[in-house]
Amino acid sequence: MVIVLKPYATKEQINKLVDNIEKRNVSVQKVIGRDLTILGLIGDTGSIDIDEMTMNEIVHKAMRIQEPFKRANKMFHPEKTIVKVGDAEIGGGKIITIAGPCSVETEDQIIEIARKVKKAGVTFLRGGAFKPRSSPYSFQGLGHEGLDLLAIAKQETGLPIVSEIIATELLDVFEEQVDIIQVGARNMQNFVLLKELGKIDKPILLKRGLSATIEEWLMSAEYIMAEGNQKVILCERGIRTFENYTRNTLDLSAVPAIKRLSHLPIVVDPSHATGMWWMVESMARGAIAVGADGLMVEVHNNPEKALSDGQQSITPDAFSNLMNSLRIIAGAIGRKI
Ligand code: PEP
Ligand code: MN
Repeated sequence: MVIVLKPYATKEQINKLVDNIEKRNVSVQKVIGRDLTILGLIGDTGSIDIDEMTMNEIVHKAMRIQEPFKRANKMFHPEKTIVKVGDAEIGGGKIITIAGPCSVETEDQIIEIARKVKKAGVTFLRGGAFKPRSSPYSFQGLGHEGLDLLAIAKQETGLPIVSEIIATELLDVFEEQVDIIQVGARNMQNFVLLKELGKIDKPILLKRGLSATIEEWLMSAEYIMAEGNQKVILCERGIRTFENYTRNTLDLSAVPAIKRLSHLPIVVDPSHATGMWWMVESMARGAIAVGADGLMVEVHNNPEKALSDGQQSITPDAFSNLMNSLRIIAGAIGRKI
């Protein structure tokens, strides 16, 4: 961090500020110019708040020269994080896929979808049991029964389960029944939930918030990691922009941006990003081409009758065709799927 002081700052005022900073285990290098004094802060400046510094009457400007996230930062952890879940590795050479319905609806529905996506070569089965819907009148998910149906589908197919948690009270049951715990876009900044997820030893799929910047998203990952859990997988799922033709705007540039800033794996969800089933396959192919470590796709055996997000769900047959075309793209960029 660099702090530029106002020209009239007195020696006493400067010393008082320096003492205040040095109390926090950060050393200060003073650069005294003709008109201005600049303070260069050296050490872990995570505990120093820019606003607090700017409020000081002798401070003209305070700037960070490093990103505020540390554990999620590639600078301090240059080797890629590979998250292991059973036999699967996320963030390695092999691209992973997560597919399944938006919501678990019935035993027949989840088992039929699970069998079909498994046949197509999927790595994980997804299914929402607790649904954070925008309207309180929309289907809210089957709750615990949904998790039990996912467990049956796992038993039938061997596919590990990805499902979304919406409250800290559900932690124990998710730890037991779910292989990757998803944090949805609406909860990306539920810091109480993130901290609790940081205390467990389970991979967390952290979706990007509805209007979150890349830095805010990585700071949310930092919340989990700061508590101990380093198994974080990021998921780009589109952000809100002025464009309303699509449900959200898929920010594919987030993939190379995350790869530059962080060592964490990133997967792309083209279903929530576009909101339209007919865009999912092309955006999925694009995501793999730009370097995503995986995909999350909503697949339903009867999209027209789906209880949630049918309009953006593809059929198991379409998913199988998609997988075939992804194999070609993965090969072209030196990866496997
Ligand atoms: C979901 O994956 O079903 C979901 C609700 O996604 P998001 O949080 O990205 O809206
Ligand atoms: Mn959905």
